[in-house]
Formats: sequence, structure tokens, C-alpha cells
Amino acid sequence: MSLHSLTILGATGTIGVNTLDVVARHPDKFRVVALSGQNQIDKLAAQCRQFRPRYAVVLEADKATALQALLAGTATEVLCGVEALEFVSSLAEVDSVMAAIVGAAGLRPALAAARAGKRVLLANKETLVMAGRFFMQAVRDNNATLLPIDSEHNAVFQSMPSAYFARQSNANLAAHGVRRVLLTASGGPFRSRELETLKDITPEQAIAHPNWVMGKKISVDSATMMNKGLEVIEAHWLFNAPPEKIEVVIHPQSIVHSMVEYLDGSVLAQLSNPDMRTPIAHSLAYPERIEAGVNWLDLAKIGTLTFEAPDLRRFPCLGLAYQALAEGGAAPAILNAANEEVVAAFLDKKIPYLGIAATLDAVLQRLFDLPANSLDELMAADAQARALARELIAAKRVLPA
Ligand code: NAD
Ligand code: MG
Repeated sequence: MSLHSLTILGATGTIGVNTLDVVARHPDKFRVVALSGQNQIDKLAAQCRQFRPRYAVVLEADKATALQALLAGTATEVLCGVEALEFVSSLAEVDSVMAAIVGAAGLRPALAAARAGKRVLLANKETLVMAGRFFMQAVRDNNATLLPIDSEHNAVFQSMPSAYFARQSNANLAAHGVRRVLLTASGGPFRSRELETLKDITPEQAIAHPNWVMGKKISVDSATMMNKGLEVIEAHWLFNAPPEKIEVVIHPQSIVHSMVEYLDGSVLAQLSNPDMRTPIAHSLAYPERIEAGVNWLDLAKIGTLTFEAPDLRRFPCLGLAYQALAEGGAAPAILNAANEEVVAAFLDKKIPYLGIAATLDAVLQRLFDLPANSLDELMAADAQARALARELIAAKRVLPA
């Protein structure tokens, strides 16, 4: 492949660091044009010294000043603010944008990349959950290429007929011989914990994922299986799949990353060790293949792969996500925004574990039919959902009656 220029949004996060790890293995193939980060300024400065991007972007002015001081004497220009994130996502010299900011904050820069017709390597699933219709439209209208980084969606992408993506997900599953998409889920740390003890779960226990090392927010989402719920919504938009064609199956070993079932009964899967460098390398090099630095899969050593159906009593957040998707409109954005608030409150020990699903349920039931005819209306729904979630948290009305 010829030299490929990259912007990496969220470079200091787990996905960002894994992306730079793959990039560092292939200096002949990739050039970093821009890196962004929010709080870890020392880490961002070290990344800039190693990868020599033209731009480094942070959100706040005081962080920009601090970063400038750390990068004195280098050729990297420090920029600041959301507009700067949009700017480095749409630069003419950039081929691909790794969208790896966490949460709703990732939407605007990812959208800017799609509008600029880039190859968008999408880790920020919240973009599709919040504004899937508008984002996919922007991808189609501007001839952007969308490659999923989320391991499940990357696995589905690899297992789908390649012709499926010729029209960027406007395609029809059955017309391509596909019956269903099967998303695997590890089940997280509480898959077999006694139901009566779920109320005692602490943030420390929730972020200790058995198979993956990830940011805190997505780790809590994995424990509640809200992560899988968000991924069902993500899959709906990426693959133009109706909710009843997306099934979740628990697979605790996290080796089969997802599957596609065909009308003839064939099921194609993508397998690998649970290491995000595999989907990242796949998307960076697509349609070629490059080494990712991962351990080779040793199936004999792993021995057993097991599968089970998810229990919605244990994982009510998964059911809420299916409800929001069926409701459509602003409901997924509302669920996503409220989820960010309740997860932050749970991590701050302001609400108990069981308060996460109960608060989300209350917010969704109250607000689900807010209008969603434009991005502005979706952002307003997002803000209203956050406000209501915060209100319920502050009033300690977070447990089922
Ligand atoms: P993380 O918390 O480790 O990193 C988040 C990054 O976003 C950091 O660089 C941070 O500086 C930046 N950031 C945070 N808030 C910001 C804001 N308001 N504005 C600008 N930048 C901001 O998260 P992560 O685990 O790397 O996840 C990133 C995204 O990838 C999430 O959307 C997550 O759902 C998705 N994802 C992650 C994994 C994984 O294995 N970590 C797997 C699949 C999908
Ligand atoms: Mg995933």
C-alpha cells in the first residue's frame, strides 16, 4: 500500500494507543498528521515527539498552553477546541480518520470526517447510536468509506459478502443471502454472579473486565451489557439490519468476535485473540492485510468455546437498548446520553449499580418521543436526557419503586 496519512482522534485513549502501536510497526505505510487528547497532556506530548504530527489538538486553552510548552522546539502546531477537531478530521492531506474519542463528544469530528469524504475508522460507537441516520447519510452523500473498529462490527464486516458494502449499507440483507447478524458478547465480570448480590457491585469490580483492557466508561457498559445494547444499535445502522435480524449471544472466551448467518445455513465468523490491534490493523490496511503485533491464536490451548443466551433480568440495559431501537427517533440518543451520566455517577459512587438500569428506564419512558428530525433536535434530546438523569441522580430517585 502507498503511504497513508492519518488523523487519530482520542490518541491518548485505549484505542488511540493501540492504533499508534500498529502504526509504529509500519513506518513505511502510515504518516500521522494529527493527534488529539483531552487530559493526559504529558502522554500526548510524548506521542507527538515520537510520531511528529503536524497538529496536536486539545479541548481547553490551559491544556493547549501546557502542551505548547512541552512541545517547544518541535514542528507540531497545537490547536484547541471542537472546531480544531473538525479541522484536523477534514484536512485535504488526511486519508483516514481514526474516530476514537469516547462518548457523544466524538460525534462532531466523526461527522466532519464523513462530510469530507474520508475513510472513517469508527471506534466511537456513540456516533451511530446518537445520530446513525444522519451519519450514514453523510457517509453516502460524500462518498466516505466507513470501516468499523468495534471488534464485533469489524468481525461482521469481515464475514459479510464484500458486495454488501458497495453502496455503503443501503443494501438489503436477504438480497445478499444473509439471514441474521450474530453479535457475540463476553457477558462481562457479572455473567454468573448471584442475582441477589448484583446490588453490592462496586465501580472497581465493574471496570475489571475479564478479557479486554478498555476505558472506564466502556468497561462499565460491558458489565451492564449496555455496551452490547449500543452495539446492536450500531449494527443496525452499519449493516442496515432491522432489530429482529440482530441477535446477541454470550461467548465468555471472546475469541469469536461475531458472525453472519446465511440463508443456506452457513455461519461465517471472524476469530482472533481479544486484542483491539487486530480490528485496528484490519481497518488501517483495508483491503490489504498487515501485521498487528498480536499473539497468534492457539485454539488447542484455548480448548473450549462456549455460547449461551443473555438473561435480560441480569442485563436489563440490553433490553432497554432494543426498546430504544424499536422506538427509533431520538430514543437511542436519549438512552446514550442518560447512560453517560449514570455511568459517571456510578463511577463517582453517587448511585448504586442497580441504579444504572433503573434510571435509564425512567429517563427513556419519560422522554422517548422527543423529536429527532434534525441533528439539532437530537442534540437537544441529548441535553434533555442528561438533565433529567442528573435530576434523578441528585434527588436519589434512581432505584425501582
Ligand atoms: P478511553 O477513555 O481510553 O479514551 C478516550 C479518548 O477520548 C482519550 O484520548 C480522551 O482524551 C478523549 N476524550 C475523552 N473525552 C473527550 C472530549 N469530551 N472531547 C475530546 N476528546 C475526548 O476510551 P477507549 O476505550 O479508547 O474508547 C474510545 C471509543 O472507542 C469509545 O467510543 C468506545 O466505545 C470505543 N471502543 C473501544 C474499545 C476498546 O477496546 N477500548 C472497543 C470498541 C469500541
Ligand atoms: Mg465491541
